[in-house]
Amino acid sequence: MDFGIRREKRALARALGVTGVSTMLLHAQSAVHRGGYVRVVNYHGTPPEFAASFERQMEFYAEHFEPVGRADLDRFYREGRWTGRRPGLLITFDDGLRTNYDVAAPVLERHGFPGWFFVPVGFIDEPAQHQLAYASEHLIQVDHAYADGRVAMSWDELRALSQRHEVGCHTRTHLRLAPSIAPAMLEDEIIAAREDMTARVGRTVDTFCWVGGEEHTYSAEAARVIRRAGYAYSFMTNNAPLVPGTDPYQIQRTNIEAAWPLDVLRFQLSGVMDAIYAPKRSRVNRLTER
Ligand SMILES: [Zn+2]
Repeated sequence: MDFGIRREKRALARALGVTGVSTMLLHAQSAVHRGGYVRVVNYHGTPPEFAASFERQMEFYAEHFEPVGRADLDRFYREGRWTGRRPGLLITFDDGLRTNYDVAAPVLERHGFPGWFFVPVGFIDEPAQHQLAYASEHLIQVDHAYADGRVAMSWDELRALSQRHEVGCHTRTHLRLAPSIAPAMLEDEIIAAREDMTARVGRTVDTFCWVGGEEHTYSAEAARVIRRAGYAYSFMTNNAPLVPGTDPYQIQRTNIEAAWPLDVLRFQLSGVMDAIYAPKRSRVNRLTER
């Protein structure tokens, strides 16, 4: 996971921001996607030192987009199109970090946006004193040091979030679902993890999020297990708007982090990333299609 911004991207984002191109492209997408569209973004940690930056991002979203919660996504698929006056924005958070509960959730609620929180079930289950080691072994980037050592959300916090937000499964052990993963392990990471999470949260968990996002972390076998496991939606990371006809098991997201300034945010939402990712996206979509 790369939390930094490559220097070239920052320079490009700044140049396009100064000339107004990112904003123009953002608005142009509504003209291109006449049936309406939903942009899906993914965050990781939201540490307190970036709370103000995250709040500015939320103000930007509230100005340009309409919130997309579970009922809104269900309606999109029922009606086959996005009918909002403005494009929809579905905001997801990966990895079950405690700062999502402490920092992101209150800001989201102030701005009327539900969050979608995807957690590795085993990370939440891990005792606080072992969570840092668990995170480093399972490639979860810890964003903030807490005095008591607990860096993952607790089950109580997740249950509280599930009242007002959507919570989903991000495998059991934050495992990249590469073709080399044995079938029994896929079943544990995708099916049993979902059942355990459903029992702990006390409501049906039926959204899934792939881990990693590198091309080799997708496989046809894992995709088949996800489709038959009882999930309604699965999320990937290959940058594309949700438009009429989008496979609900291939919902693409665009990465944004809380620290990023608005010119980078506008660039990420401008559609340029969609074009850059088009070849990889079509390969992964073909690999994981029904
Ligand atoms: Zn992750």
